[in-house]
Amino acid sequence: MTVAAILARKGRDVLTVRKETPIADVVRLLGERRIGAVVVSDDFHRIIGIVSERDIVRVLARSGPAGLEGAVEAIMTQKVVTCADQDTLHEVMERMTHGRFRHLPVVEDGRLAGIVSIGDVVKARIEQVEREADEMRAYIAMA
Ligand code: AMP
Repeated sequence: MTVAAILARKGRDVLTVRKETPIADVVRLLGERRIGAVVVSDDFHRIIGIVSERDIVRVLARSGPAGLEGAVEAIMTQKVVTCADQDTLHEVMERMTHGRFRHLPVVEDGRLAGIVSIGDVVKARIEQVEREADEMRAYIAMA
């Protein structure tokens, strides 16, 4: 299974913010949309960072509620690991495990084209395993 197949069902909408966005606004967005991360992009839809709930927890631990007054630029991860449409489920799982993060923006032609979360990966993997088991059962029944 590929990233393109996952996104064909999930859709390609990604919530983005500007680097000047107040952290408090990002907290509100994460809560309202029930998501774990937002991508920070520039005027040309290029990725310049990612902010997840973990970054929010870190700034709260460090500075308390006053930490939420800053701009998202101060807490975003700038070196963002991405994936592409043709990458496989296995490659995505490996990248998330190796990087110890749960979100992978999808880039096509230098532009943000979706996002895959650990939830999408687990769902796709379970479906894959169930499909393989069904095929195996059908094959055994035929023998
Ligand atoms: P997460 O597990 O996605 O909540 O993120 C854990 C940490 O990794 C946070 O500091 C994020 O900013 C960072 N992070 C999340 N996704 C990525 C990514 N694709 N590339 C680089 N860093 C990331």
